[in-house]
Formats: sequence, structure tokens, C-alpha cells
Amino acid sequence: MAKLEPLYDKRYQCLFCKEKFTNKKVRSSFIRQVGRDTDFCGYFEGENPYFYDVAVCPYCGYAFTVNFGPVKKDRRELITEQYIKKIKYKDYTGSRDLSTAIKVYKLAYLTGSLNQEKSSLLAGLCLRLGWFYRYNRNVEEEQRYLRRASELYQEAYANEDTASPGEVHLWVYLIGELEGRLGNYGLARQWLGRLLHVPDLEPYLRNLLLDRWEYYRERMDNDGKEN
Ligand SMILES: [Zn+2]
Repeated sequence: MAKLEPLYDKRYQCLFCKEKFTNKKVRSSFIRQVGRDTDFCGYFEGENPYFYDVAVCPYCGYAFTVNFGPVKKDRRELITEQYIKKIKYKDYTGSRDLSTAIKVYKLAYLTGSLNQEKSSLLAGLCLRLGWFYRYNRNVEEEQRYLRRASELYQEAYANEDTASPGEVHLWVYLIGELEGRLGNYGLARQWLGRLLHVPDLEPYLRNLLLDRWEYYRERMDNDGKEN
């Protein structure tokens, strides 16, 4: 029997040009998570599965995740002019390092914005980009993407009414946690506070919430003492 490799070829059909192609994915039996931050950023030994959640069509360059919707008819021309005609390098079918992952997520953020995908989906891409810059210790870029992720989750919270209560709880938690990470402790407490009295909050989220609620209270107190 051939030895299993961590990466395998997953088949896709392009949402834009309909061509069939493969991109790599990490076999679930090879995913070794060794840590997690309070905004759910995971740390992995070996291949990082996040790097492979964006597929890029090697024929036309369209980038998407499994959560993208079909290309909208009235967005097709704009996507052609502003994206398809401009993209030069399209081959992301091999294994990916951190800088390649940053590139493909930025491509997906572009196509997703042009195709007017849901704010919550775009927020997820920005959150991952924030994490990738955290891996890279690039604080400025990390904060830029966490800021954008928080704004997009706030848009989702205000406008998306098809989400499940569990999803909405997660967005509210993330908005609070991201604002806290951006130094806005008061805002962090306001958003986290909305979850304190939710009766059926998922237990893992309740534990994190209480921990962060307390943490940002201490940070606010400390700020008060310095002034
Ligand atoms: Zn394509």
C-alpha cells in the first residue's frame, strides 16, 4: 500500500468558468492542532488546513471557498473587467506556505467582494488574514484585518437574518474579542455583555466569554489607574 501523504487533490468545478480542476487539501487524519487563541486562531504542527480552504481556478483565476454562492449574473461583467482580465498568476494547485496562503485569501476577498458575498463570509476571510499576519508577527497588518473583520461581523449582525442563533452568538463574541484585541476595551465589554444572559449559550463559548469579560474589565481598570 502506498504511504498516505498529508495533502491530497480535491476536485472542484470553477464557479466562474465551470472548468474542473484540483487544489490540495489536508487529510483530516494529518491535522494536528497544538494551540488556539481566544479569537479561535489555531496553531498546527505540520500542514495548516486553513491554507487550503480557498480554491483558485488555474484556468481563469477565480478564487472561492465552499461557502461562496454562484457568480451573480449582474456581477459577471464587473468581475471579468476588474479581476479576471487583471490576474496574471493563477496556479495555486500545489502545496502552500504562509505567503501563498495570504495571497489566495486576498484573491478570495476580492472575488467575494465583487460578487457581493455575505458580510459574514468576507469577515471570515479577513479574520484568517489577521491570523496569518499574527503567525508572521506583522502587528500592523494583523490589526488592519482584525479591524475589517470586526466591521464586517457588525454588518452581518445588523443585516443577515438567515443565520442560526449559534452563528450569531459566535459573531457577537468575535466582535467583542476583536475590539478588545484592538484596545477598545469598553466596546469589547459592550459586545461581550450581550451574551452574558443568553440562557442556552454553547458551553465552550460561555467559558471563553466569562474569561474575556473579566480580562477586559481588568484592562479597563488598569487604563483608569494610568490616567
Ligand atoms: Zn475558472
